[in-house]
Amino acid sequence: MIEEKFIQELLERVDIVDVVSRHIQLEAGEVNFTAPCPFHTETTSSFAVSRERQFYHCFGCEAHGSAIGFLMQYSNLSFTEAVEELARSVGMAVEHDGTDSA
Ligand SMILES: [Zn+2]
Repeated sequence: MIEEKFIQELLERVDIVDVVSRHIQLEAGEVNFTAPCPFHTETTSSFAVSRERQFYHCFGCEAHGSAIGFLMQYSNLSFTEAVEELARSVGMAVEHDGTDSA
């Protein structure tokens, strides 16, 4: 398991807009960044990413979550893998508490 406080610190350092824009092209809007949703087929841009709230949400398919959730859903990673990838991207070392079975 990864400690909760590490997750919080990681999410404070990571910018979800940077994370998402490494995978899909985002368009800057007045409030949110938007794009056609990567999780369902559409021609409009129902997918919104909030830099202020560090959250993504799709108005079409209801996909939503943090930067960790985006990587899990988009890259099909486990929670631990998503945390490790994000940690690498901001130069943080993942601290395990020794209870990992894997
Ligand atoms: Zn969607």
